[in-house]
Amino acid sequence: MRAVALVAPGQVEIVDDWPEPEPGPGDVVVQIRGVGLCGSDLSVYDGTREVPGMPWVFGHEGGGDIVATGPGVTGREVGQRVVIEPNFADGTCAACLAGHTSACDDRQVLAITRTGILAERVAVPADYTWPISSDWPDVALACVEPLVVAHTAVRRADVPVGADCLVIGAGSQGQLVCQSLLAAGAQPYVLEPHPGRLELALKLGARPAEEHHGDTYPLVFETAGVPSVWEPAYNAVAKTGKLVVIGFNDKPAQLTTIDLVQRQITIVGQLIYDHPVDFQATLAAVSAGQLAPAQTVQGTFGVEETAAALASVREIAGKSWIEFSSWRDGS
Ligand SMILES: [Zn+2]
Repeated sequence: MRAVALVAPGQVEIVDDWPEPEPGPGDVVVQIRGVGLCGSDLSVYDGTREVPGMPWVFGHEGGGDIVATGPGVTGREVGQRVVIEPNFADGTCAACLAGHTSACDDRQVLAITRTGILAERVAVPADYTWPISSDWPDVALACVEPLVVAHTAVRRADVPVGADCLVIGAGSQGQLVCQSLLAAGAQPYVLEPHPGRLELALKLGARPAEEHHGDTYPLVFETAGVPSVWEPAYNAVAKTGKLVVIGFNDKPAQLTTIDLVQRQITIVGQLIYDHPVDFQATLAAVSAGQLAPAQTVQGTFGVEETAAALASVREIAGKSWIEFSSWRDGS
């Protein structure tokens, strides 16, 4: 079958001899309809994030149609349209047993520890596929996974209705945090140097941070992950407020404990989502019309144009996605 293979850092090729996936016990095979591109895909693409070997297939945000089921699968059948949850927990470690599958000791990650979904078909555990209505546009399949990350961060932060929140960074993760905050009845203010990204955030209902009365907020969401934003993010937290850290880097971040204690600040590291509660909650909100995952999408590329999509993705203000219609039509 065909797949988009990473053959060297920064170089992808379409191959037609990628192994056809075999569904193991409990697995389903999904024929892919759409794949979103995000920062972690780019770090695999450019070689900053190491993968087990080359050629490699990445891509982890997306879904399609179930075309085969393995032994022992119940509750999923051929023909169902599904979104893929791309982090597979072992379900047996202490973190999993406590419900924190995001902290699983042996978490398998599509595109990082197992080959990803920029391929015609992929085998995944049935429990990690989420049936959705077949009238969802394919573009929505490509945006659900990052929306779950954002929506989970907002849900766990217990954002009061009407609260002013600062969102640092308006890349696709920041845009989706803004959307989740608006759905929660809060008002996001955005700090973002890129004019196109800022403009998109404002169009979707955020306000520029310069318009906020006062320098501090009860809640700050840091999505940029660059060292230079740590200080403004931390300083923008009001007394007794909370800083939710979603973006990250490997540089030390400074603060003084006297300031932390006297301002009584809570700092929370927020990594992905827990299985199955967070996909469940986000998909319910999308189905109820409270969230529209495709709103932030600005770039659409056919699967043959994946190399061009990867080359331009950093210049596009919103999210880019790859659509697979030409591979499904048998061309
Ligand atoms: Zn585990």
